[in-house]
Amino acid sequence: MTIQNTLARLPCYLWAAPCSVAGLVIACVAVLLGAKAQVRNGTLQVIGGRLATGICRLPTRLKIVAFTHGHVIYAVSRTAMDSYREHELVHVRQYERWGPLFPFLYIGSSLIQKLKGRDPYFANWFEREAHKVEGSPFVGRD
Ligand SMILES: [Zn+2]
Repeated sequence: MTIQNTLARLPCYLWAAPCSVAGLVIACVAVLLGAKAQVRNGTLQVIGGRLATGICRLPTRLKIVAFTHGHVIYAVSRTAMDSYREHELVHVRQYERWGPLFPFLYIGSSLIQKLKGRDPYFANWFEREAHKVEGSPFVGRD
């Protein structure tokens, strides 16, 4: 991404900033626990470390391989980052679109799906949009 593109997207960064700050806190903890960080695709991408070890010990239903907060993407491994990057970049665009409202809208979508008897993750409107991206490991799970 060029500096011109970054400047053109400044309003998107500012709108998503409250969520990115939360992501940066997680990123700092992850880096202190041995994770590696890189700037790519206009995002801070954080990989691995002992945070990943803790996540991998969670029960299967709660295991998270990658997640996004604003312009910060975290993945438990480089393989996970490579597999889920495009999916997580859709979430970055969603943060840019909805800003600080996004976490509430995401949770609301999950609650609505749960009340309808559907899977709160796979039926979540935002996840369904992210699952449509080419190369998503979730394609075909809807
Ligand atoms: Zn997702």
